Amino acid sequence: MAKYWNEEIETMDYESMKKLQSERLVRQVRHVYDNVPYYKNLMDERGVTPDDIKGIEDLHKLPFISKADLRDNYPDGLLAVPKSECVRIHATSGTTGKRAIAFYTAKDIDIWDDCVARAITAAGGTKEDVVHIAYGYGLFTGGLGLHGGSHKVGCLTLPVSSGNTERQIQFMQDLGSTILCCTPSYAAYIGETVAEMGLSPDDLTLKAGIFGAEPWTEEMRRSIEKSLGIKAYDIYGLTETSGPGVAFECECQTGMHINEDNFIAEIIDPDTGEVLPEGSKGELVFTSITKEAFPLLRYRTRDICILTREKCKCGRTLVKMTKPMGRSDDMLIIKGVNVFPSQIETVLLRDFGATPNYQIVVDRVGTTDTFEIKIELSDNMFDDTIRSIEALEKKLSADIVQILGIRAKISLVEPKSIPRSEGKAVRVIDKRKLV
Ligand code: ADP
Ligand code: ZN
Repeated sequence: MAKYWNEEIETMDYESMKKLQSERLVRQVRHVYDNVPYYKNLMDERGVTPDDIKGIEDLHKLPFISKADLRDNYPDGLLAVPKSECVRIHATSGTTGKRAIAFYTAKDIDIWDDCVARAITAAGGTKEDVVHIAYGYGLFTGGLGLHGGSHKVGCLTLPVSSGNTERQIQFMQDLGSTILCCTPSYAAYIGETVAEMGLSPDDLTLKAGIFGAEPWTEEMRRSIEKSLGIKAYDIYGLTETSGPGVAFECECQTGMHINEDNFIAEIIDPDTGEVLPEGSKGELVFTSITKEAFPLLRYRTRDICILTREKCKCGRTLVKMTKPMGRSDDMLIIKGVNVFPSQIETVLLRDFGATPNYQIVVDRVGTTDTFEIKIELSDNMFDDTIRSIEALEKKLSADIVQILGIRAKISLVEPKSIPRSEGKAVRVIDKRKLV
């Protein structure tokens, strides 16, 4: 079984990679300058010309591009080739505002598929596998992204899309699905449904899962792995740079390898824009060095993570990023305290030992913030004595105070009362933003 999809690139020494990145960057900057008037203006304003960019050491001279620039140029102001050269569009999920549109040439799709093929191979996938794709198909990049990579590897691809969960499980059994691809929250829901149908992981032929498109904790990983009897791999990406497959996890599960022959990654201080040294936590910035249609230079993802070049046991030399545990704009400020939903998830999953369904509800009464965490009880807990439920409430409350420094109202609610997610989970309802 091949260990790598593209061994030469995935195990390339850093000096050769830098050389490759530099050549591609120089070409890409010229392409963007000549074809995207908006970015040319940004460079002109900074007094930078393509001649100033001789290699990756000059990357910092280029201006950033952000979601706001994408919005201002909606729908095709940043397109760098004639529309007739494009073969597809996708759009962001719009999690944090208006959707952004990304365009692809045939070559862009081919490179994207290649990135995903690396991810599938790293998760142990070969042409013998049956890849069950339960990411949504459509404008969202999840479905067609994994689909293209799966084709490339030669797997039997099941384009099931999301929804109709019991039928999904039936298909898995009938067709012998071996690799499941979907959002982690949907994987958790599938796991829950498997149990509800009276089945166990042994009734399925799944061996691995490739889950991404939203933040998920290690605790959630373990819980999904247990409920489906698989090894769960993380995959990362965003529409603006192509889609899933910008980075992928190997069997070591210690961060995701970035496909840096296509994307140069930097970490910056989100407040000052200063480039931070390796190992620092900050905002991830990507420069697409091979994209033709929609080549973003120094795109600010707003995802917060750390990059590391520490040697990985899998043999890949590609730089690794830690799981982004929430975007800079996912952060809630409650009663003046910074709160990331992932911190709450960590506490919940630890105290419950499994994946509870939960929702964070924030509101404001007068000038005071209210902060409630609704947690669904499982059927067997629901039958527990009031005393044991009260004890659980107390423990959760204390753990939340300990980790966040503020108190939350803990509401343990009836089984099945919190809506399930088939795509990206909605964990936070911030009513303060609705007024
Ligand atoms: P939107 O920004 O509207 O959600 P996308 O569907 O393109 O649009 O989502 C990309 C974003 O999803 C990333 O910027 C990141 O915040 C999140 N994301 C994708 N994969 C992961 C992952 N494996 N872990 C955590 N967050 C992820
Ligand atoms: Zn590795």
